[in-house]
Amino acid sequence: MKKIKKMAFIGVGLINSSLARDLMTKKFYEHSVAFSRTKKTRNILKKLKIVDKVEDSYEATVKDADIIIIGVPVEAFSSVIKRISSHLKSGAIVTDVGSVKKSLIRISEKLLPKDVDFVPGHPIAGTEHSGPEAGFKGLFKGGYCILTPTSKAKKESVNIVVKMWNLVGMKVDIMEPSYHDMVLAITSHIPHIIAYSIVGTVSNLEKSIKTEVIKYAASGFKDFTRIAASDPVMWRDIMLSNKSAILEMLKVFKTDLAKLELAIKKKDSKFLYNLFSKTRNIRKKITK
Ligand code: NAP
Repeated sequence: MKKIKKMAFIGVGLINSSLARDLMTKKFYEHSVAFSRTKKTRNILKKLKIVDKVEDSYEATVKDADIIIIGVPVEAFSSVIKRISSHLKSGAIVTDVGSVKKSLIRISEKLLPKDVDFVPGHPIAGTEHSGPEAGFKGLFKGGYCILTPTSKAKKESVNIVVKMWNLVGMKVDIMEPSYHDMVLAITSHIPHIIAYSIVGTVSNLEKSIKTEVIKYAASGFKDFTRIAASDPVMWRDIMLSNKSAILEMLKVFKTDLAKLELAIKKKDSKFLYNLFSKTRNIRKKITK
């Protein structure tokens, strides 16, 4: 397998900083560099010492890099690709951690040089916190990373990215990009929409009711507030970038919600009991 002399991280928030922390001891690369557009983040990165060098220029960051991993909100992906594409070395691998895949592939196919391989990735791991200080060692351990390479990427490039995620404890699945976007729409994006919506509804209620809600938050609402505390820029971007898959899945969800509403209206206890039993079993399978 090709030797990785230089690895470059662009957008070192929760995900990329956790990866940088984990890779430090794995001998995956000879040296590493991170880019941040803000002085504040650059200073934090210097203090954290999770990469060998911190840069404020895209050109210096990607110059001679064998692998570049992009960890910015998905709507910022194209501006980053535009800034780096003319400075990439021939044969470099560009990968990413974005939560949406189809739209990013479309951008990379248009903007990346032909002698550079794009291997799109999405580690299914995270928290509701953001920024480099929110990252931690072991975030990826035991989880799945989905890669959605097109036929244009060389097998060796895909294998290098697979090896990187295996080194930090992830199992890797290869998936079609549009299938990835559909699966994630229902397992991650719609649950976030529901959480943002219910917490938004509560915040629109009168102050007195809000106080009661906070007081009795443990009864279900608290779990929604954790999800709804996720980074607003990241989630705004996911909703915009995965619009068609989200709208399709939202239609299915609304049909099921209407059935539930009708069952309550008609006092259909059998329907309610069967649905709640089925969902309880799903939870048992997940926590195993
Ligand atoms: P994060 O903690 O908010 O970090 C994002 C980083 O991107 C920040 O370091 C920020 O740099 C940089 N950035 C933002 N806008 C930029 C721009 N226009 N140009 C250049 N840099 C920019 O985000 P994250 O949670 O690590 O998420 C990163 C990516 O991973 C997203 O695409 C997200 O969809 C995906 N993802 C997230 C999770 C999760 O649970 N959080 C899980 C899986 C995948 P500065 O500090 O310099 O502003």
